[in-house]
Amino acid sequence: GMRLQLEDIRKNFGETAVLDGVSLHVREGEFVSILGPSGAGKSTLFQLLTGAEHADGGAISVNGASVSGQNRDLAFMPQRDALMPWRSILDNVTLWLEVQGMTRKAARAKVTPLLGEFGLAGFENHYPAQLSGGMRQRAALLRTVVQERSLLLLDEPFGALDALTRTSMQRWLEVMWKRHRWTALLITHDVREAVFLSDRIYVLSARPARVLHEFQIPLPRP
Ligand code: ADP
Ligand code: ADP
Repeated sequence: GMRLQLEDIRKNFGETAVLDGVSLHVREGEFVSILGPSGAGKSTLFQLLTGAEHADGGAISVNGASVSGQNRDLAFMPQRDALMPWRSILDNVTLWLEVQGMTRKAARAKVTPLLGEFGLAGFENHYPAQLSGGMRQRAALLRTVVQERSLLLLDEPFGALDALTRTSMQRWLEVMWKRHRWTALLITHDVREAVFLSDRIYVLSARPARVLHEFQIPLPRP
């Protein structure tokens, strides 16, 4: 398991302050969402977590140890276009395992039993364009979770889906998360999605982002 802690994270792009002292944490096995208006700095925060960008101030730590640069404990599911269109679903899902040095045979053996659970059995030789949006996002999530990193980062994973598909994917993700208890950090601007999926929610201000509120779910009744 793993804990993630961000302390007083600051980030500027030139003269523009984007993150203005963001502090938050995710406990082991917890599902936490970050809600914020468009342009608040949510994706910037993710880039700091994945090591794609560097903070100008503050500290990120995993299980109490400070991390910088490429973070090997994180598995990341981006917003869209996660799958390579010219590769089959099976090859897409095994891609990162092979990049990490697993043989193709071993990667396929690891992934194949999970295809059914992700609603992809029988589609392993299809190309992404032959699948529905929901199936593509499930394949992207499967590719993320088979890496067996301790922390899942989900950046608007269902943002590009129609409303019905999004709802069914949210339900499905909830079931999967209850089964596996991944430590998860979700970025979304969908309040209902955050409330439905999370143990806790951080609400960011408009840019420059600060944490405005922290809510435990379920919300107390008024
Ligand atoms: P969100 O994900 O909450 O919509 P972003 O993190 O994408 O917000 O962007 C926050 C702000 O930072 C935006 O105003 C955006 O224009 C700016 N920004 C993001 N990345 C860069 C960059 N590489 N250079 C300059 N400005 C950037
Ligand atoms: P969505 O998530 O877009 O609502 P699903 O991913 O739940 O749709 O797909 C519902 C079912 O429809 C799938 O389990 C699959 O059996 C079938 N299906 C979806 N896309 C295709 C396709 N391209 N070819 C064949 N069957 C498909």
